[in-house]
Amino acid sequence: MMKRPTFAFGLFLATLPIASFAQSAPTPANRDSGASAPVDLSAAKPGRDPNQPIDSAYTAKIKEYTTEPFFLSPLVDYLPASKTVPTPKAVLGDIAGAPTKLPYSKEVYEYMRALAKASPRVKVYSIGTTEEGREMIAVAVASEELIAKLDENKAKLAKLADPRAINMDDKVAEEIAASAAPVYYITGTIHSPEAGAPTALMELAYRLAVDESPYIRNIRDNLITLITPIVEVDGRDRVVDVFNWKMKHPGQTVPPLIYWGKYVAHDNNRDAMGMTLKLTQNVLNTYVDWKAQVIHDLHESVPFLYDNTIGDGPFNAWIDPLLTNEWQMIGWNNVQEMTRFGMPGVFAHGTFDTWSPGYLMFIAATHNGISRLYETFGNGGTAETVERTLSPSETERTWYRQNPPLPRVKWSLRNNNNYEQTGLLVSLSYFANNKRQFLENFYQKSKRSVTKAKVEGPAAYVLPADDRRPGAQAELLNVLRKQAVEISRATAPFTVTASSHASARHGARPAADSATKADTATTTTTRTFPAGSYVVRMDQPYSRIADALLDYQYWSPNDPQKNPYDDTGWTFPEGFNVQAVRVTDVKVLDAPMERVTGEIRSPGGVTGTGTVFAINHNADNALVTLRYRLAKADFQVAEESFEAAGKRFARGSFVVKGVPQADLDKAAKELGVPVVALPAAPNVKMHAARAARVAILHTWLGTQTEGWWRQAFDQLSIPFAYISTQDVAKNPNLNAKYDVILFPPTSGNGTAIIQGMPMWRNPVPWKNTPETPNISTLAQTDDMRPGLGWQGLENLESFVAKGGVLVGVTNTAEFAVQFGLTNGVTANTAKSNSVVGSLLRTKLVDETSPIVYGVSDSLAVYSDDGGSFSVSSTRGGRGGFGGGSGNGRATGRGTADDPDVTQGRQADPKFEAPPRATVQPWQAAPITDDQLRSPINIIPPDQRPRVLLRFADQKELLVSGLLDGGSDIAQRPVVVDVPMQKGHVVLFANNPLWRGETIGSYALVFNTMLNWDNLNAGRKLDEK
Ligand SMILES: [Zn+2]
Repeated sequence: MMKRPTFAFGLFLATLPIASFAQSAPTPANRDSGASAPVDLSAAKPGRDPNQPIDSAYTAKIKEYTTEPFFLSPLVDYLPASKTVPTPKAVLGDIAGAPTKLPYSKEVYEYMRALAKASPRVKVYSIGTTEEGREMIAVAVASEELIAKLDENKAKLAKLADPRAINMDDKVAEEIAASAAPVYYITGTIHSPEAGAPTALMELAYRLAVDESPYIRNIRDNLITLITPIVEVDGRDRVVDVFNWKMKHPGQTVPPLIYWGKYVAHDNNRDAMGMTLKLTQNVLNTYVDWKAQVIHDLHESVPFLYDNTIGDGPFNAWIDPLLTNEWQMIGWNNVQEMTRFGMPGVFAHGTFDTWSPGYLMFIAATHNGISRLYETFGNGGTAETVERTLSPSETERTWYRQNPPLPRVKWSLRNNNNYEQTGLLVSLSYFANNKRQFLENFYQKSKRSVTKAKVEGPAAYVLPADDRRPGAQAELLNVLRKQAVEISRATAPFTVTASSHASARHGARPAADSATKADTATTTTTRTFPAGSYVVRMDQPYSRIADALLDYQYWSPNDPQKNPYDDTGWTFPEGFNVQAVRVTDVKVLDAPMERVTGEIRSPGGVTGTGTVFAINHNADNALVTLRYRLAKADFQVAEESFEAAGKRFARGSFVVKGVPQADLDKAAKELGVPVVALPAAPNVKMHAARAARVAILHTWLGTQTEGWWRQAFDQLSIPFAYISTQDVAKNPNLNAKYDVILFPPTSGNGTAIIQGMPMWRNPVPWKNTPETPNISTLAQTDDMRPGLGWQGLENLESFVAKGGVLVGVTNTAEFAVQFGLTNGVTANTAKSNSVVGSLLRTKLVDETSPIVYGVSDSLAVYSDDGGSFSVSSTRGGRGGFGGGSGNGRATGRGTADDPDVTQGRQADPKFEAPPRATVQPWQAAPITDDQLRSPINIIPPDQRPRVLLRFADQKELLVSGLLDGGSDIAQRPVVVDVPMQKGHVVLFANNPLWRGETIGSYALVFNTMLNWDNLNAGRKLDEK
């Protein structure tokens, strides 16, 4: 799960140390499968029981495919034999981890189902489907007795998971913990090129089901192992396609796996906050439904086994401290046991910080369980055995890695499978032996999540009924629902006290929050919330995830961790631009309220009667859905606010005609859009809001970040064409097909966008063919290598010049700037690591622009790295004059604002320059008469960049996350509309559509689409 997966291939050789190799040390013959002398299974030593028959052909293959004896352990150096239960070979044709085979999902499932058919110790459950309709499964393995009473056991675990069910009675909990079996949930291959887990998990399930050694029986008798062998099923079948293609085309360049899931690749392991992907929802539902204690997620990008469970600081601030102790216990036991087996390169800690709750495993951490993660060593999507040379950083001895990985190694898929299975079996054994303690901890963590409301607080978050964005509010509440959080709704108004200290921020704005400077002094105010307000109580078992998502994050610039692994801030109410008031007053828990069940929808529909309909613009996403759903209706946009039917409608509101009231009412009800019928259209300046023909443009270099855009568009039912830079290169008349081309962030810089991949060697196809049937038809090419090219750039330029709108975001905005599509704009980079995935405050600069219709001031936007723009009224961007604050003076007499005085010269006002205008960092310096004498580089007023949104002043810039300094970010333009002949290039320094976490910024893009041919509305041109 490396942030940027890298694989080191190098060339130097080192002598392999001689490790102690435990040769299947047999345990004393104190076993039997049945009822003879009682055996203390918990004391069982790892390894084969001498009476355990082995599958000798399979065992021989294990040894053949393992490249060094010390890459085996006594737990996996043999395969137990069974007369009735098939081994993985039955489906694979060879053993698990063979160098020629990566199984497809259907083969893995076929095996698991065969196992379940043959063994009463195995059951297979379907847990949902993927975006492309492939099945996800969970396989339970335990003793016959445990399997027979799964429901009874689950009922016990449910009481520990929700201590309210036993009135928080510790005695009852202790009794349950003494008798219940915990559930240990293992998830494989979420990252498709980390391809080894499915075969390891097939074999692991087999071992757990058939091995009669005391060590395995102890696991089987005491806990339920639950396995989802493939998390990213769509990507799995594609990576197998590509591997098989590689086998059939030796020596050729293999297509990089540009698509994993339908929408995102590596980021599928960043969705445990927003819960937008099916795989996240399915795993969470399984975890919650089974009342599991652990999620253990398998990855393969670090040699040889990195148990990153403990990781490094800073730890997430919302989890129970008990969990961080459990990480230490399990992690160190894991390292110790495998080091004892003589397996090199097993370590814990490392540099992974445990701050963001976005990782799949963190579903357990935020739901009172234990998150775990392995990185083992993989060969990057192939089953082949490969000579690998590791980097010094991977092989140096450190305090937490006393037996580091070997600098040079021949590495096989079987080695990887050995490490994965050994680590898992060691962990399962430890968990089985300490199950009572872990179950008691599980109960304690669940209980403290319930008592949190009255202990550390807050007591609740309240989402007021009068929020101006009920649609976005419903979207936020539905994220919480997917997180299994209970939501209530006030049945009457209620009043609580609020302290300004804890809630002076925008999204958590109490009634009297003007006292923002009261950092230390806490002033107490009261606030009354209307009936219908939503209440997220913190006295519930899953309060921690709600708190983690709704609260603010602060990452200190002085934190010893200098390389945050992922986003540092995510405050959902800010990202969604809705209010969620953090209430510490426990009186809130007594407010009259009832639990909300089912999906939450904002109220919508038509009120009144008439043939003209007004819809207020509040930047809710449903507005754009409605516009596309009623594609034939006449939608006009008001360029000023207006009053009608006793209501105020904001600038940008819709005035709709040409649709039957019943049709509009039905759509508006479904989408949660309030509509007011009017007898006549209001008297206000309007322009048409056409349903633009939109294309989302991708490169063949990287599709992940734009995948979140496609996902949002699909979820909102916004039609779009999906085109590649190669399609643009082939089409000189893009205007015939599209009005707006969105170019979301991609991989590589501007030059890479133009050039694509190097053209040497063979064409690299990405195509649905009989050889690669799982490559979807969503996007295909015979050769991934060519980029946009100069012809493509020309076609894009012509598209804009003729009236089209191009949207560039972060690195594609830089591309547009770099290649001359945006007169008068430069792109700024902030100091490295001053912002790492933070939410930053913005200010509206020109609220008359259609792009910011309905968007409130002080919107929080997602910034990956603090990038921004500067603008100028001269070609070539901001340079030479007017830079910075634009009014600094040279060294001289007087104060900073005084003029200098030349000594010995007659002072005469007629020689003094006229006063220079103060130019703010978001503004262009005005053009002077002197510059106009040679106007060649002066941009005509109607072609100058128009700044719509800028970053806030430095002192209020940070919303959530890390901000180190920020003087090179504050006040600079964030969203800029750049006219180019008849069209526009709209530039974003923020990413407005990010991981389903920035709902509040979506409108900036949707407004651009609906007003694409009227973006100049409200614009005031410079005089000269
Ligand atoms: Zn990974």
